[in-house]
Amino acid sequence: MKIKQIRTTTFKAPLKTPFKTALRRVDHLEDLVVIIECNDGTLGYGEGAPTPVITGETMGSMIAAIEHIRPTLIGLDIEEDFEAILSNLHRSIVKNTTAKSALEIALYDLGSQAVKLPLYRMLGGMQTTFKTDITISMNDIDQMVADSLQAVERGYEILKIKIGDNPKKDIERIKAIHHAVGKNITLRLDANQGWNAVQSVEVLQTIENAGIWPQLIEQPVKADDIQGLKYIKKRVQTPLLADESIFTLKDAITLLEIEAIDYVNIKLAKTAGISGALELADTARNFGVKCMIGCMLEGPYSVAAGVHVASAKADVISMIDLDAVSLLAENPVTSSICFKESEITLGNEVGLGIRP
Ligand SMILES: [Mg+2]
Repeated sequence: MKIKQIRTTTFKAPLKTPFKTALRRVDHLEDLVVIIECNDGTLGYGEGAPTPVITGETMGSMIAAIEHIRPTLIGLDIEEDFEAILSNLHRSIVKNTTAKSALEIALYDLGSQAVKLPLYRMLGGMQTTFKTDITISMNDIDQMVADSLQAVERGYEILKIKIGDNPKKDIERIKAIHHAVGKNITLRLDANQGWNAVQSVEVLQTIENAGIWPQLIEQPVKADDIQGLKYIKKRVQTPLLADESIFTLKDAITLLEIEAIDYVNIKLAKTAGISGALELADTARNFGVKCMIGCMLEGPYSVAAGVHVASAKADVISMIDLDAVSLLAENPVTSSICFKESEITLGNEVGLGIRP
């Protein structure tokens, strides 16, 4: 199974409703699908969404990075050279994590087809059912309460609340949603770097004093504000999850060694793919820290890859934030993975399990 050709194409799909965070607003999903073809006709699919405000990548930069990496992979054999292929991919260019992830997903799709196993089985996974949260976009309070109630109606038991543009308003949002949905619904808060450390402590202490206990607060401060995370962790009880602060193993080790965080958010677009995600999960386990697996606003191929990783590292990845497929108004792929609102079920098809 020698790599013959690597192509890219864009994947476009409308969203049910606009996706809004403290960093951006998106009305339409548009990302990049990578197709790797082998000399025996086998196809591997990968995907990644350019998220300039998080990874620094654009559609153009992703395509250029893949063009740059391509010659180092052509002609190599999936079964005989898999390690060399991954090594070439990561050595060809630094950063460009989403482009590398899209390529890696396609390579793992091929690798698992070569050994005739579903990808999660190839990675040692057993668990096949997962419960994801759903993102509640950042809006005015009434809209967020209405969206939260609708999500609960649709069967979601965990809501990921996007906040971070205004600490006072954020407190009101959290209180209003908590009171509307009740204490049996788990709230995850994501401020997407919107607050500073002092504001974070104010918001979290206020809601804790009001008897509201979110499962976690994700990335309250700027990605590089390590001291800020530490300052917050000392002063609030709500567990702290790092997202934009952790791309590499080194990022994670730095934060874990100084005990600045409680959880790690793994996203393939940050770890440059599946191999980095597996390593990050193993590193967190060594520190006795649980992980969430998340996704960008991206399509079914890369979300599926996240589900396979969640299965492979189910002992340490205890939280699933893979709702991107449920945010799409329509999903034009064939999938052996069932995305049914909050329930995700892996199938038995070999490979990644997603086909155009
Ligand atoms: Mg986040």
